[in-house]
Amino acid sequence: MSTNLKNPEKTPHILILGMGGTIAGLAPSPEKPLEYKAGQVGVGSLISHIQSAIPEGLSLVSEQVANINSRNLSDDLLSLLGETVRKSLLDPSVHGIVITHGTDTIEETGIFLQLTCGQLSHELGKRVILTGAMLPSNAPDADGPSNLLDAIKWASTPIDDCPGGIYAVMDGRACMAIDLAKRHTTALNAPLQSSPSSSAGLINPSWLFGVKAVQAAWIEDLPIPTGNEWPWVEILTSHAGARSETVAHWMDIEVKGIVLAGSGIGGFHDSWQAPLAQAVAKGVALVRTSRTGSGSTFLNIPEKDLPGCLASGSLTAPRARIALQLSLNAEKQAKKMGKPLTWQDFFARIVVLPVIK
Ligand code: ASP
Repeated sequence: MSTNLKNPEKTPHILILGMGGTIAGLAPSPEKPLEYKAGQVGVGSLISHIQSAIPEGLSLVSEQVANINSRNLSDDLLSLLGETVRKSLLDPSVHGIVITHGTDTIEETGIFLQLTCGQLSHELGKRVILTGAMLPSNAPDADGPSNLLDAIKWASTPIDDCPGGIYAVMDGRACMAIDLAKRHTTALNAPLQSSPSSSAGLINPSWLFGVKAVQAAWIEDLPIPTGNEWPWVEILTSHAGARSETVAHWMDIEVKGIVLAGSGIGGFHDSWQAPLAQAVAKGVALVRTSRTGSGSTFLNIPEKDLPGCLASGSLTAPRARIALQLSLNAEKQAKKMGKPLTWQDFFARIVVLPVIK
């Protein structure tokens, strides 16, 4: 679908990629907004609802990449989205990209795009903006239209000296996509509520300083895995009454990596020590993080780590999982080129990214 365009491929435009989510959701009736189905309305139709508010002369082109409830996001879809973003960034007629996405797993897509397209978008000076909504498109106070409009403006307008990169805009606020984390079930600002952010209208200088520090530190994107290259990585949450059999069971099913969402500062139940040592000896990649959802985890704290295990720094479990998948794949690709780099080398580059306050 194209808007305002006679020759969409050649005219400078903002590309809107539709992934689905609540922003494209429909409720059975406006009185029952929580009983909606996500991913029902096409991205072209979402744009047509805000057509009259789109700044004069701004051209938009839309592409439906998927139309799903993002809780069903798959490795394949991440690959497809990543390749589409990369190809579009390299297209001189694309000035910026907006992605309409479900908020449930927007955290995963945020870090995935930062690690695979963050350097490219920065180098090319183009902004990629994730957005979504907490209310379906036919709810009386639907937040999707204003979020989409704000995202389009962010993707298209020169904003102070805010550089190209991977961002998110929702509920009038902007953050780096790597900082997205849905931490409330229904609040309109759920995905940015606990993220360092700035007003989308008036940029906060200290936030912008942090953005530039992250971008200066991220100097090489990781390869996007193709369908069958995605390694199987699971998240294991430590809890009262944890049993050793859980880890042993996972070893039978050939997982390539485990992210441990430990309690507190990232400790895990003693009953997992022996089976996890066996897993590591078998070659399973181990990353330790915390189930608290904020703060950092550090190597050898609270106990000495198993050899080869890494702490996730400030990465939450969903982010650490994507980071580990991409690091394992990067190790595999590096080996093919004769480079003796390990997943730990790649993961360490991610963990040291500056944390925006
Ligand atoms: N409830 C979700 C959302 O806010 C649905 C999804 O993630 O697709 O978009």
